[in-house]
Amino acid sequence: MRVFSLESVIEEFEALTNDAGRLQTESLRKILEQNGEAEYLRNLGLGGRTDPESFRACVPLVTHRDLEPYIQRIADGDTSVLTGKPITSISLSSGTTQGKPKFLPFNDELVQSTMQIYRTSFAFRNREYPIGDGKALQFIYSSRQVKTKGGLIATTATTNVYRSEQFKRTMKDIQSQCTSPDEVIFGPDFWQSLYCHLLCGLIYSNEVQIISSTFAHSIVHAFRTLEQVWEELCMDIREGVLSSRITVPSIRSAVSKLLIPNPSLADSIYNKCVRLSNWYGVIPELWPNAKYVYGIMTGSMEPYLKKLRHYAGSLPLMSADYGSSEGWIGANVNPSLIPELATFAVLPNIGYFEFIPLEKPEEQEQEQELENSASTIHYIESEPVGLTEVEIGKEYEIIVTNFAGLYRYRLGDVVRVAGFHNSTPELQFVCRRSLVLSINIDKNTEKDLQLAVEEAAKLLAAEKLEVVDFTSHVDTSTEPGHYVIFWELSSDTTEEVLRSCCNCLDLAFVDAGYIGSRKVGTIGPLELRVVRKKTFERILEHFLGLGAAMNQFKTPRFVSLSNSKVLQILCRNVTRCYFSTAYDI
Ligand code: AMP
Repeated sequence: MRVFSLESVIEEFEALTNDAGRLQTESLRKILEQNGEAEYLRNLGLGGRTDPESFRACVPLVTHRDLEPYIQRIADGDTSVLTGKPITSISLSSGTTQGKPKFLPFNDELVQSTMQIYRTSFAFRNREYPIGDGKALQFIYSSRQVKTKGGLIATTATTNVYRSEQFKRTMKDIQSQCTSPDEVIFGPDFWQSLYCHLLCGLIYSNEVQIISSTFAHSIVHAFRTLEQVWEELCMDIREGVLSSRITVPSIRSAVSKLLIPNPSLADSIYNKCVRLSNWYGVIPELWPNAKYVYGIMTGSMEPYLKKLRHYAGSLPLMSADYGSSEGWIGANVNPSLIPELATFAVLPNIGYFEFIPLEKPEEQEQEQELENSASTIHYIESEPVGLTEVEIGKEYEIIVTNFAGLYRYRLGDVVRVAGFHNSTPELQFVCRRSLVLSINIDKNTEKDLQLAVEEAAKLLAAEKLEVVDFTSHVDTSTEPGHYVIFWELSSDTTEEVLRSCCNCLDLAFVDAGYIGSRKVGTIGPLELRVVRKKTFERILEHFLGLGAAMNQFKTPRFVSLSNSKVLQILCRNVTRCYFSTAYDI
């Protein structure tokens, strides 16, 4: 039984969003009252003032790099430098965007806002796609937990959330029970956990109503694995004995308790799998009562949508909420929008949000901008505006002030305002602001790379091939430097096709700086390197080995020289490479 009614969650959300402006001022006041005595704020001369004007006048905009020394001090045991109440845990961001995990403060207030976001989007989802008391096949994993020098637990934000009592309570309330026991979620070996998630999901196949994970990537990865291990799973179910590949005692014992010999279920799964054509629609086939597939599908997850749709067949895909290790931003309250159009309504009581208006410079200005070292995309920025002052259709960078010790913190994400829900904006995620590909005056973000890959991948569709995963690198060991795109393909193809893909990629970077540099030869021909199958799996394993969690894993879309291990994995697995002739005269 739920301890709250979903109608009351929706009513509360309507009330909050109707009063977004006042609640923002209120949130800021609370944040500053709770934390005004912390060293960081005390030194900024607010002198007890909590109004937005004084706040903006006294507190500077900062990036993670500015706060790093403070967060390091917290990790070392000086736990109240940023907040009034001591920080009790540290979150590690996925680290796949920047190459290394960032440390961030974590506290109970973040757990509370996480639950508020989960409850809110669930209430809206459930209104359109009601689920009963069934189960959820959730591909969720915890990550390694380490103790910092000061004795705080440092782990990924998702693990910090899963560890909390509140999470367990809320999940029982909102998401029907997870098919896997806790031992699987908290297991030390990712592969074994994944296998057991699939197994438990199949044992309860008739009861499963939701298939989910934090990010779409993990769902796709899970079903790619199912393609490999389905016969073994059927055997386990038939005989009621867990595969000998599962060696972690806690996982073995918890999952074995759920396994009883069930030849008829095993036969039914076996026959369904055999009948499927190229695994199309495997999710509704094996989980006939599933209502939808749920996870973050926007931003860097978009490249996995095609494969996810393939597996999901007729089932709707629903994109999850928008947040980061730093804290949550908004909930998806329009669940029936396709993932490409998903929006996130900002919750005005979970933090104080400002927005830096961003405008793309005119093309001429872009060409004049010769700043070699710029690592973020160049926009013309104006003064930050408040949550309720943003304008529909415009793009902004988000600045977060929250209850976990971040004050005017530049998140580095670019969002577009798609509309308003009452008086709070509904945001669309546009891209990370940081550049991935830049040699001289050229500037390409992760999104530009994604669009180029999508364009070139169209040439593979005729061959019934797909790009399993991709990343990029700038090779400056040649003169001039050039872009390198790494592709893992679902199967082999002809040289002719790959040469056309390479030329297409080169032409698909439409940024004026790139085109200009290619034309005059200050950037060399783009290189497409095809890597062996499972290369990206090796990269994933590498990050998991460093303590990243599968839940928060995002394939790095750019690999720099400083990420030498990842570059090594890629380079060692190259099977073919092609240079573009697209700009040859
Ligand atoms: P991390 O804290 O490392 O797990 O990553 C947080 C980042 O993931 C955010 O700053 C966004 O760039 C991205 N992200 C999180 N949620 C979404 C979403 N719903 N859509 C697109 N990108 C997202």
